[in-house]
Amino acid sequence: MRISIKSLAAAGACLAAAACGQSVDEDSTETLTIYSARHYDSDRAVYQAFEDQTGIQIETIEAGGDLLIERMKADGERSGADVVITVDAGRLWRAEQDGLFQPYDSEIIEERVPESLRHPEGKWFGFAKRARVIAYSQERVSPDEITGYETLADPKWDNRVCVRSSGNIYNISLLAALIERWGDNVAQDWAQGVVRNFARVPSGGDIEQIRAIAAGECDLALVNHYYYARIANSEDAADQEVADAVALNFPEDNGGVHVNISGAGVAANADNVDAAHQFLEFLLSDEAQRMFAELTNEYPVVASAPYENDVLDGFGEFEADPVNVNTLGENQAEAQRMFDRVGWP
Ligand code: FE
Repeated sequence: MRISIKSLAAAGACLAAAACGQSVDEDSTETLTIYSARHYDSDRAVYQAFEDQTGIQIETIEAGGDLLIERMKADGERSGADVVITVDAGRLWRAEQDGLFQPYDSEIIEERVPESLRHPEGKWFGFAKRARVIAYSQERVSPDEITGYETLADPKWDNRVCVRSSGNIYNISLLAALIERWGDNVAQDWAQGVVRNFARVPSGGDIEQIRAIAAGECDLALVNHYYYARIANSEDAADQEVADAVALNFPEDNGGVHVNISGAGVAANADNVDAAHQFLEFLLSDEAQRMFAELTNEYPVVASAPYENDVLDGFGEFEADPVNVNTLGENQAEAQRMFDRVGWP
């Protein structure tokens, strides 16, 4: 927190006087209000570093997943939100549809973030990347049996696939990407094929699918890469056993690996637009990019940003689906209808 000499003097005067109109904070400290659907150590470290460097104090309102957008809509202009942060382009797209963003104006964002990871009209952008990939049993599956996302729908894997429910945005965005890639009919056949291969009714999050493979309940699963990386980077012995039993395949053939983002933008009713821009650009600094890679196991969006993470390095380079992530939002309603039609709960 930055306190100027003048405001210290004012604070002294306030202490002496019984009645005081303004607190020291209001007098001296600039505040940035962030609505975030994330609750990671990396983000807390980024907030702290930003406060230390700028003297701007961050206040966060956190609400998990889909609740954040509902909360912002409910709070409306009273929210005081300057910045909105959430995960998955599908959620960013919904927030944009609800009018929760205003366009940013920043050359740094346009220079540092690849075009496919930004909203076409500058409403939001990705500051970290995640890949939705295929986890497999090291014991029961040979990596060359996996030829792409289509493998999950191959009858050969009957009763051997674990996936979380279709209500989750990660699956909706993946199917939205596959609709773009293959067209409606092929994408729907794929979803139907995956349902036929279910080893169990979808339950739990991605991490539970990885544990289910290790426990022998299934052989293949769809997961975001960082859940596996979190287990592999854990010092817990039980986690290490899971990490040893399971590996990830990055299905890059036939269209590339499905990549999604953690993203942010300037809130529609932001009071503090300048500080919001300062913060958004800070998310793209080498320092912040390193924190996402090292503390949350996400990939930096800034290709040149250095970091140390042996598990991420171990995954190797991969070809990403070049589709603009905004398309995942545009195809979202169709993906949801498709899940309903094929009976993917
Ligand atoms: Fe997640």
